[in-house]
Amino acid sequence: MVAEAPRYRYRVDASDVLVWVNDAWIAFARENGAAGLVPPFVLQRSLWDFVAGEELRTLYREIHSRVRLSGIPAVLPFRCDSASLQRHMRLTITREDAGQLAYECILVRTVAQRHLDILDTEPRRSIAFLTMCSCCKRALLEPRGWMDLEEVCLRLKIFEAQEVPQLRHTVCHECAKVLAGASDHGSGS
Ligand SMILES: [Zn+2]
Repeated sequence: MVAEAPRYRYRVDASDVLVWVNDAWIAFARENGAAGLVPPFVLQRSLWDFVAGEELRTLYREIHSRVRLSGIPAVLPFRCDSASLQRHMRLTITREDAGQLAYECILVRTVAQRHLDILDTEPRRSIAFLTMCSCCKRALLEPRGWMDLEEVCLRLKIFEAQEVPQLRHTVCHECAKVLAGASDHGSGS
């Protein structure tokens, strides 16, 4: 790890259209093989094109409204995992002039994990669905509830399978509470 964590920054205008990304963000997208996430394909597009799952979009729209109205920044933990690396990130959304919002993501820590095919883009997908929280990357295994993705893969024998389930993105109850409280004055816990 470098001494100072890079800060991934981008900005949306009053209509939530991406108008600027910084070099660190471009480099991060490149390193992760997201060739489609370079400026010509990102700028002037709606932020919501890149947010997976209706629940998460709804919660973030509410955060946008609150930050624009109150001017109080929202601080949110989230995960941006690759197949073999947990990335614990922290996002700060700040109000700027003319209804713009500045996003800043910092990598707080990384934890190596057993390679999870289900997070790769390549493997064949079965017709089964697995529900995953977009924020904490836990998966839903009824009747037990939300569990670490690796644990769920073990229990469902996904490591041995030829095909992996498709992912359905949602937001778990705990993360929804955190998102709903983000930027609310004094109710951060
Ligand atoms: Zn969650």
